[in-house]
Amino acid sequence: MAKIALLPGDGIGQEIVPQAVRVLKHIAPKYGIELEFAEALVGGAAIDALGVPLPDETLKLCQQSDAILLGAVGGPKWDTLPVHLRPEGAALLGLRKNLGLFTNIRPVKMLPALLKASTLKEEIVNGVDMMVFRELTGGLYFGERGRREVNGETQAFDTMVYATSEIERIARLGFVAAQGRRGKLCSVDKANILESSRLWRETVSKLAPEYPDVELTHMYVDNCAMQLVRQPLQFDVIITENMFGDILTDLASMLSGSIGMLASASIGGKVGLYEPAHGSAPDIAGMNKANPLATILSAALLLRYALGQEQAAAAIEASVAQTLAQGYRTPDIYVSGCKQVGTQEMTDLVIKNV
Ligand code: NAD
Repeated sequence: MAKIALLPGDGIGQEIVPQAVRVLKHIAPKYGIELEFAEALVGGAAIDALGVPLPDETLKLCQQSDAILLGAVGGPKWDTLPVHLRPEGAALLGLRKNLGLFTNIRPVKMLPALLKASTLKEEIVNGVDMMVFRELTGGLYFGERGRREVNGETQAFDTMVYATSEIERIARLGFVAAQGRRGKLCSVDKANILESSRLWRETVSKLAPEYPDVELTHMYVDNCAMQLVRQPLQFDVIITENMFGDILTDLASMLSGSIGMLASASIGGKVGLYEPAHGSAPDIAGMNKANPLATILSAALLLRYALGQEQAAAAIEASVAQTLAQGYRTPDIYVSGCKQVGTQEMTDLVIKNV
């Protein structure tokens, strides 16, 4: 029996997590998988109920589970709270740090049916198939920060810090992933300016001889942003530090049509966390408009990485591709000639096609 902790969180998280659970409950018996679900509060929902964004009982449930499925946290209601209470910072960073989730994996794949949904030309995005490994527990988001008075004015600072061990462990994951794919690893940094990036580049380069079947390249992050929209087919596996990865993965999401399509897995510790790459989308929350596919695809990653159920994961992915090929679209990926459906109906169709 695999224990799955469910953390719907805020906004559309409340709508899309239950839909992904419906898919999991439907597919599990077909593949002899036994799942047990337990739900807990996180983010703004936890602040409203218990006064903190990551309650102890939520963390405990996560630690005792085999995997976590999260929706999204945050929203305008909590934006003015002090930093230590903000859902995104305290809840997400707290989960990552406490669970040792040092890598976020985001597969970016253009499904043929969505070619027209991308804002980029078809010939540029046709065939896109890459994985981005973003470092998740170090770098700019975890370094020392603060404010100080200098020469009569306020100065704010954030610090980007990396240790070789932090770089090595994500680099190794990237090399191994590339070995299982097209054998290309691109390490993204800003080594022309940042000392932490110079260490990043040196450390990754030192590991390369251990993986002779992988072709390692290095790219500056600004160039990478440009190359991702200029010629995305050149990328197979990308590894990069925390903030660069945060920005590049949102950019890369548009290669697959919509941020509502992009799944993610955060791994490294005993328990992995699976969540869509998007936020809580307060602008469409409660309207049955949210695209549930990123969360459903995150559930597929959960089956693959946390439970080793490759066939069940692939079945969900195939069903999503088929549903799109049949012309069904949520509003975010709608193009004329297709059939527009809501969150609930899209999930019904995915379930029907499994
Ligand atoms: P967002 O990803 O929530 O929304 C950006 C745009 O994409 C919006 O127009 C939204 O409607 C659309 N969108 C996002 N997901 C969609 C989906 N599944 N289907 C259809 N459309 C979708 O980013 P934002 O607006 O910058 O942030 C909103 C809130 O979410 C903020 O409080 C932010 O801090 C938080 N956030 C949370 C996470 C997380 O929980 N991991 C990540 C990013 C942002």
